[in-house]
Amino acid sequence: MAKSTSEEKVHSQKEWAMVIHGGAGTILESEMTPEKFKQFHGALDSALTIGQKILASNGSALDAIEATIKFLEDSPYFNAGRGAVFTHEGKNELDASVMDGSNKEAGAVGGVTNIKHPISAAIKVMTNSPHVMMVGRGAEQFSKQQGLEQADPSWFKTDRRWESLQKILQKEKSTGAVYEEVDSKFGTVGAVALDKNGNLAAGTSTGGMTNKKFNRIGDSPIIGAGTYADNQLCGVSCTGHGEFFIRYAVAHDVAARMDYLNETVEEASDFIINTKLKEVDGSGGLIALDKNGNYAMPFNTAGMYRGYISPDERFVKMYKE
Ligand code: ASP
Repeated sequence: MAKSTSEEKVHSQKEWAMVIHGGAGTILESEMTPEKFKQFHGALDSALTIGQKILASNGSALDAIEATIKFLEDSPYFNAGRGAVFTHEGKNELDASVMDGSNKEAGAVGGVTNIKHPISAAIKVMTNSPHVMMVGRGAEQFSKQQGLEQADPSWFKTDRRWESLQKILQKEKSTGAVYEEVDSKFGTVGAVALDKNGNLAAGTSTGGMTNKKFNRIGDSPIIGAGTYADNQLCGVSCTGHGEFFIRYAVAHDVAARMDYLNETVEEASDFIINTKLKEVDGSGGLIALDKNGNYAMPFNTAGMYRGYISPDERFVKMYKE
């Protein structure tokens, strides 16, 4: 363990900070064209600017992650909102969750098909209902009652994701086997922010996994699996093969290791992704911020779209660098 580096990191207190992801399992570096690079890089960079404007002007961590994730949901490049992957039946079923580290309140929606911004619906569940999670038609009805913007299901459809489903269906037909993903390009989006008042908030939004069946729901809308936040410890948003992230309670495990083992956010996150999950072939990654604004963004896939911003640092990265 690099103790001295960890201690230095713990002591660097940021006034505010935000970390984002656009999914683990990127387009392979060898297949990345300058045009695609510009699209992904540009979208992540714009997302950072959205959070920056809110956090630098004293806005809340919750507002910052909502605005940032809404922007990424509208972008066709990521597997959330517009650009979500397709189910086996050719539908877009969306999941999202949020947690407020200041009071440990949380909200989530699962399997919704016509809410334009699932992250906003998750926030409404948290703030305007006595519940933590709503799914399917009920969640859709609630979002309408709350006055949230609705969208025709066709809004979420992109050719790229439709073709991915066709490729998998073809493969299933020719081999007789069942596939959830063939290329492990997950593409979920997430954000964790620390505001000037020391509040942490985390949110995650996804279309799930291509070819999912029977209203399958992954880790993204599950508090403690895909999303977690606690002002005293950290905020976390995950991306990857959801079944593993649920079974290993990944987002909460980062906080637990920091709490019980006194690990830094980097040590805890790295161990879970690169040792615990790697040993069982659970592919994916996570982003996390501790209460001082220090970040961790480990992944065990070829890449993970990600970015970080604070008053003195800003970057967007895709591969191991
Ligand atoms: N974790 C998501 C799920 O399993 C997929 C992703 O990260 O893209 O639904």
